[in-house]
Amino acid sequence: MDKMTFRKHGHAIVDWIADYMDHIEEYPVLAQVEPGEIGARLPKTAPEEPERMEAIFDDFKQIILPGMTHWQHPSFFAYFPANTSEPSILAEFLTAALGAQGMVWQTSPAATELEEIVMEWLRQMLGLPEIFTGVIQDTASTSTLCALLCARERATNFSTNKQGLHKGSTRRLIVYTSEEAHSSVEKGVKIAGFGKDNLRLIPTGADFAMIPQELEKAINADMESGHLPCCVVAAVGTTSSTAMDPLRSIGEICDRHHIWLHVDAAMAGTAAILPEMRHILDGIEFADSFVFNPHKWLFTNFDCSAYFCKDAKSLTSTFEIMPEYLKTDADRRVKNFRDWGIPLGRRFRALKLWFVIRHFGIMGLQKKVRAHIDLAKEFESWVRKDPRFELMAPVTINLVCFRYHPSHGNFPEEELERINKELMDKLNRSGKMFITHTKLKGKFVLRLCIGQTNTAREHVQMAWDRLQASLPQQS
Ligand code: PLP
Repeated sequence: MDKMTFRKHGHAIVDWIADYMDHIEEYPVLAQVEPGEIGARLPKTAPEEPERMEAIFDDFKQIILPGMTHWQHPSFFAYFPANTSEPSILAEFLTAALGAQGMVWQTSPAATELEEIVMEWLRQMLGLPEIFTGVIQDTASTSTLCALLCARERATNFSTNKQGLHKGSTRRLIVYTSEEAHSSVEKGVKIAGFGKDNLRLIPTGADFAMIPQELEKAINADMESGHLPCCVVAAVGTTSSTAMDPLRSIGEICDRHHIWLHVDAAMAGTAAILPEMRHILDGIEFADSFVFNPHKWLFTNFDCSAYFCKDAKSLTSTFEIMPEYLKTDADRRVKNFRDWGIPLGRRFRALKLWFVIRHFGIMGLQKKVRAHIDLAKEFESWVRKDPRFELMAPVTINLVCFRYHPSHGNFPEEELERINKELMDKLNRSGKMFITHTKLKGKFVLRLCIGQTNTAREHVQMAWDRLQASLPQQS
């Protein structure tokens, strides 16, 4: 592509993006297509001849876009957010243009050094103890896998990397997490070779947070059976209900038994940039590692997962491999982030974080996050006041778990599930808002999470109004 053509399409695409952002509310939040519909409109083989950019971009608008769910729509209340912002998008242009690999310091010194700086900024912003060092991973799933691998190595004196986990060994390594933990913990346990049978799901209380006494009981039982408790993964903000595992009590237990404590704060961790929310990390000094995703709630587009650990040596001892072709003269004086995680190649993700933090400033970020939390509280108050609704979990941050439960009937659980599922589907089919569901202690629950960059009161009010208007007739 000659540079004139590149400029022409580059400008056109930036214009299109700006218009898209301005008019995003005209798109249905949830893609209104059936499985296979988009694929059927696409050729089954790659083009033999070059195609014009006009045609490609046209197909993007005509075929691809209708099959997209619009995560940046301010009425996106589903799952957890994966928000973005203009400075983040601009930085991604540059990252793509530089097309650099950040695997070792030499492959792009600025990428490594900026990553060190922005991770230190984040550490300070969250109030993490000074002893923590940060590295950017692609996702929280990868971060948790890294933590599990480090825990496995530390517990076995860094011998498993060499010898492997032996099937015949009676001394099993055990991992603990709550029954409400994210599926990435189980996935990591499987990948890291612990085996699903060696993952203990610790019961939770009425608030859906891990019960520390149950954790200690499970640890003691495993020790009595001759097993080796290896890692506890605590959640600060579970996926279903943003429940907060009590870090301090859990940390004290881990400390006593010399167990690796990994804290998964994938979405909720962002809230700790607010002084009034720092309590969610009370006890974090006990953690060996901690993850939160700026790509969820810190206006930095996917992917960008911030992984912090207390002892970086455990990370490098777990992952370091030194092939001749990657050795450089600077190795002894620099960080080579390829040894801080799983992949060798690394995108220059620090750039977008740097753009975002500088663009908003800490105060600007705090203002947005605080506004989301306040809106969730307001929505919670509406649910509480309306006798037709039931609040299903404590609102700890920006997620409200609730369900429609008409007071006049004695509905069995299955009937409530059916009614609420229908209500959710109806709302999502409207294209005007998008919520998702979960189950808490077996009960079907609607989740409304407020964290999209531009969600304002009017959107939350509209969600509430639509909810009212969509209730079954008899209410
Ligand atoms: N942990 C928690 C608590 C989550 O809610 C999620 C995703 O929503 C994850 C981990 C996985 O995040 P990622 O997609 O970055 O792997």
